[in-house]
Amino acid sequence: MPIDATEPYDADNIFAKILRGEIPSSKVYEDEWAYAFEDINPQAEIHTLVIPKGEYVSWDDFSMSASAEEIAGFVRAVGKVARDKGLVEPGYRLLANVGAHGGQEVPHFHVHIFGGQPLGRMIA
Ligand code: IMP
Repeated sequence: MPIDATEPYDADNIFAKILRGEIPSSKVYEDEWAYAFEDINPQAEIHTLVIPKGEYVSWDDFSMSASAEEIAGFVRAVGKVARDKGLVEPGYRLLANVGAHGGQEVPHFHVHIFGGQPLGRMIA
């Protein structure tokens, strides 16, 4: 069920629980700013999610409210995860769904990393 990207942060959302270690995840990477784990329902050979450690509902919230340090740390973490997975060559795709029309379902900002296969022009 897509979310409203303007809703207040819900500390009980599933990615908040993953960050707190209350439910398991297939961890790929973690640093001060970000946590990365494998998507439970992969849409490509490689489908990894990267989330900021801060409480942001969506890209809109993150881009507006996060500090420059948090944004830089998060962006670098996304790049590192993709690089460490060997995706830079032949390439990969980043995706952030935002709100209802974007099809966002989990109300904690996340970036999808897709790769490991040719992705075509569109991916859900
Ligand atoms: P969204 O549509 O951009 O919000 O994507 C949410 C993603 O989270 C989907 O690709 C789901 O498969 C994924 N997901 C939901 N719950 C879990 C989980 O517990 N572990 C890993 N991935 C999850």
